[in-house]
Amino acid sequence: MPPCSPEAKSNHIRTQMKRKNGIVIAIDGPAGAGKSTTARRVAHKMGYLYLDTGAMYRAVGLVALQRGVDLDDAEGVAALGEVLDLAFETRDGQVQTLLNGENVSEAIRTSEISQAASRVAVHPEVREVLVTRQQAMGKDGGIVLEGRDTGTAIFPDAELKIFLTADPGERARRRLRDLQKTGESPDFESLLADIRTRDARDQQTQLQRGAWPAPDAVRIDTTGVSVEEQVDQIVALARGENGRIDE
Ligand code: C5P
Repeated sequence: MPPCSPEAKSNHIRTQMKRKNGIVIAIDGPAGAGKSTTARRVAHKMGYLYLDTGAMYRAVGLVALQRGVDLDDAEGVAALGEVLDLAFETRDGQVQTLLNGENVSEAIRTSEISQAASRVAVHPEVREVLVTRQQAMGKDGGIVLEGRDTGTAIFPDAELKIFLTADPGERARRRLRDLQKTGESPDFESLLADIRTRDARDQQTQLQRGAWPAPDAVRIDTTGVSVEEQVDQIVALARGENGRIDE
């Protein structure tokens, strides 16, 4: 495990004084790298909030499709993002996404919505609206955010940045298992192709906005690594950086 860079340490010292509830842990990486499970468990162990920023892009994609707004209409989609009534609630240990009070946790996980989310996410107008909302949610610290740009655009001063990767085949297998739980039964090859399309689009979206991943992120390759191992590594880093854990 590479040590945190000097930049990460100085960010930590600077922000330790300014955040009320603890540090910001930013976990980024491509689709299917294991971010959600890992981030949720890290948040649980630290007693921190958890924010799935991808669920916000998914919710915008879902509403756009429901209302017939063209996914290429940057301003129309951004306007939806601005008024999105989105809430996250933990029920029976699972984080549920509520859109206008309706539980859309499963509806936003389909392959169609994965692609729609990635398409609405290319618009700078949409990103600006969502990033502003995400910054407001995390500004007091004591939070684990996961997505693509949590350590770059949302919290470039996050005290701990992680970049999770895994090879595309492993990520497609993980997606297959997730989708099977929602009742879909896509074939492996088309999932792998979907992941590659989304990777290329997501990478281009992020690179347009500067270095990606964040140069001071700790990279963890999760291929063949258990979730528990990843969680332990991240919690150990957070503890080393923070020095005060509210477990
Ligand atoms: O992480 P998840 O696969 O749920 O994200 C869905 C899509 O939302 C991604 O493919 C990406 O295009 C977009 N996204 C983003 N920035 C984030 C989180 C997600 O652009 N912080």
